[in-house]
Amino acid sequence: MTSWMERESRVMMTTGGRRLKRTIVRGQGARVWDDEGREYLDFVGGWAVTNLGHCHPAMVAAIEQQAKTLLIASNDVYTIPQILLAEQLVARSCLDRVFFANSGAEANEGAVKLARKWGKLHRDGAYEVITARHSFHGRTLAMTAATGKPEGRIPFEPVPQGFISVEYDDIAALRDATTATTVAVMLELVQGEGGVHVPRDGYFEAVREWCDHNKLLLILDEVQTGFGRLGTLFGYQQFNIEPDIMTLAKGLGGGVPIGALMAKQSAAVFTPGDHGTTYGGSPLMCAAALASFEYMVEHDIAAHARSVGGYFKARLERLCADHPALVHAVRGRGLLLAIELTEPRALEVATTCLDRGLLVNVVPSTQSTLRFMPPLIIGEAEVDAAIGILDHAIVSQRS
Ligand code: PMP
Repeated sequence: MTSWMERESRVMMTTGGRRLKRTIVRGQGARVWDDEGREYLDFVGGWAVTNLGHCHPAMVAAIEQQAKTLLIASNDVYTIPQILLAEQLVARSCLDRVFFANSGAEANEGAVKLARKWGKLHRDGAYEVITARHSFHGRTLAMTAATGKPEGRIPFEPVPQGFISVEYDDIAALRDATTATTVAVMLELVQGEGGVHVPRDGYFEAVREWCDHNKLLLILDEVQTGFGRLGTLFGYQQFNIEPDIMTLAKGLGGGVPIGALMAKQSAAVFTPGDHGTTYGGSPLMCAAALASFEYMVEHDIAAHARSVGGYFKARLERLCADHPALVHAVRGRGLLLAIELTEPRALEVATTCLDRGLLVNVVPSTQSTLRFMPPLIIGEAEVDAAIGILDHAIVSQRS
């Protein structure tokens, strides 16, 4: 253990557990360095966050400038970066209204509050939200209840009522679970924390149709899939549907903490006093997010993610074909990809990758799934380098 690990163990609460035993001190582009000067290709990307890579000059300049100008003002006044960012989000999505939060979980909390209020106004007090098993929506009490994983919920019970989870990618299960008290369906387009599961073609169209037919709101949690990760600015653009409510975080900030709750005008039923947060939408975070947003649009980073993601997926499929006894599936879209090992040795593979200079993620709910969510600006050369390390790490597990 290095001294930083020892020092942390004396003062920090243990929550997630740090599985990659390195202390990262610096990042640039798709690379990070540890406290002993070792370099790593970062295919975790701050957990699907660093769209433009680490310390992108456009973001650094915007943060520097805004830090010298105005960090925060209060929610009693108007601030310009917030309005500029909201205008961009509305202009480039199918949603009409924005509320800024600080994280994905908070954005989702807001989404459920909004749906419940809408239910009071338009659906006779219907309040229940149907979610999916193996989903992930965050760590607040309500999101712990929404997340379809009993082990995350049971230690904290009683949790807020009003959530029911059904099998993902199963329209019949969703139909069966719908009752007069159902107000909304909340889903990820690709289940990220659940192991990178992409639903079958037609599933989301059927969900949308069911929601329309039954006057239910469709909430898309695009915290992980949004902002270019799947190869379009918003993930829903690939699924032939539009949500009534959408949440964003992660890539929206590109490395700074910000979340957004967006809604169609018809669902944007908050009135003054209903919701709020001190830091949400602060000038500093909005200026940083706006700089990242503008760069992404100007350079069509989503299209780049789609193309390099296609290349990466093809290389993973080759890896799978080369080692069928070791890797048996490749999943994902854009730059949210995963491989499924035949043995529960994902942590060993990730540790070997680490020793050779590559950060990869072991999906927490599994022992056999490795997930890749690199910066969207990576090139094919970086993919090739990562594949070389991964190939070696996988083969070295052969017993
Ligand atoms: N929703 C999804 C789909 C997520 O992947 C995450 C985080 N992994 C969250 C919500 C929670 O976001 P945050 O950690 O910013 O609260």
